[in-house]
Amino acid sequence: MRPKTPVASPEIEALIGLLAKVPGLGPRSARRAALQLLKKRETLMKPLADALSVAAEAVKTCSTCGNLDTRDPCGLCTAPGRDDGLICVVADVQDIWALERAGAFRGRYHVLGGLLSALDGIGPDDLRIAGLIARAGQEGVREVILALSATVDGQTTAHVVTERLAPLGVHTTRLAHGVPVGGELELLDDGTLFAALQSRRPL
Ligand code: ZN
Repeated sequence: MRPKTPVASPEIEALIGLLAKVPGLGPRSARRAALQLLKKRETLMKPLADALSVAAEAVKTCSTCGNLDTRDPCGLCTAPGRDDGLICVVADVQDIWALERAGAFRGRYHVLGGLLSALDGIGPDDLRIAGLIARAGQEGVREVILALSATVDGQTTAHVVTERLAPLGVHTTRLAHGVPVGGELELLDDGTLFAALQSRRPL
């Protein structure tokens, strides 16, 4: 077999190699992205390089909630007018972004930094659970909302977190599982339909 010779210059191959590590981009998409960046050097590549370097320097993890921001404590922890009595627990920062886009929650957040996973070897000590327990035990906290995925890992994590919160006596809730807004019943899978029936509530 002939040794694989790089097609482009080492600099371009290095760029492609790094882009290919970005989630959602494989080697093919990375080549396409690299080419577009090189073609749009002034309008895309240089502004992107600047944004990357600013973010790499300035963004840090909030020591209170685990969110990413240029400030510590972050903007969501310090924002006036948010309810300190409600803590919404999420797996990762992207979940905060989703909830904030929806504009449905006006309390504080706590980012666990992942989900428990026997398969990936992620145990309770790998997540920000101790920090959550400390926050939930503070005076004035009325409710902890577990906004975790309806997957095996998400539900295992919710179970473990609930157990740890139990001694504090704080009201703990989780997001409802069921019929999506705009969803048709006949298109739902059995598990979702079952969960929706279990989570029914009076009108
Ligand atoms: Zn924060």
